[in-house]
Amino acid sequence: MGKTAFVTGGSRGIGRAIVRELAAAGYAVGINYLQSEKQAEELAAEIREQGGRALAVRADVADREAVTAAIRAVEGAFGPADLLVNNAGIAQNDLFQDTPEELWRRMFAVHADGAFHTIQAVLPHMLHEKAGCIVNISSIWGLRGASCEVAYAASKAAVIGLTRSLAMELAPSHIRVNCIAPGVIHTDMVKELGEETVASLIDQTPAGRLGTPEDIAKAVAFLAKDDADFITGQVLTVDGGFIL
Ligand code: NAP
Repeated sequence: MGKTAFVTGGSRGIGRAIVRELAAAGYAVGINYLQSEKQAEELAAEIREQGGRALAVRADVADREAVTAAIRAVEGAFGPADLLVNNAGIAQNDLFQDTPEELWRRMFAVHADGAFHTIQAVLPHMLHEKAGCIVNISSIWGLRGASCEVAYAASKAAVIGLTRSLAMELAPSHIRVNCIAPGVIHTDMVKELGEETVASLIDQTPAGRLGTPEDIAKAVAFLAKDDADFITGQVLTVDGGFIL
């Protein structure tokens, strides 16, 4: 049996590119989605048509029971997860003083609790095998902070703290935990900001363009490789120089 990867939020944007990249690298891929069933099923079908293995599974990563069941379904089909990518995410755009409590809690539920749930679900097997790889998708805002996105940035900073601490705890078991901090990437999440804001974000990016989902997917594939065997607890910024 080949290797198995589980990608949260694999139905669209960055997650979809990660799924395609990992399938091309030979992984059987669990494609987690919440609302975009059609896109997730189409992506799974596309991979299967190309001779790969993929299964779309619905779960809210904030729901421990649901996401654990989704992981078990993928493991039942393809074998235990060797690679976990915590990519599912939601955006925010409001002042801190106007941020409703539910939104604050939802940000942490999806980004921080979501990673907690999925990692605890895959860890027993990884610990048993003394092998495994976890890649968490944070954000440059989680590193630098962002006005009007305090809940988002704080929850993404939590993901960085989780990554570094867990990497220390798991390194003796040969399980690597890394993080990617994407800059401004051309997905629905960014399109929602409007043309003017997007143009200004491109202006602020030294590389002079938005990132593509594939830019992030390639970084995930690199961190997952044995070539990255000595890399753990790192935050790899993939942002065209945005926060330099
Ligand atoms: P996107 O296009 O809006 O896609 C978000 C994905 O997350 C979708 O597949 C969505 O699934 C899934 N999702 C959201 N909430 C979920 C939940 N509770 N449970 C399971 N899946 C859930 O966003 P994106 O731009 O690709 O972002 C992907 C990740 O990169 C996020 O963590 C985001 O914070 C991070 N990021 C993005 C950028 C950027 O510029 N785009 C920059 C920095 C970091 P459904 O559609 O099926 O609901």
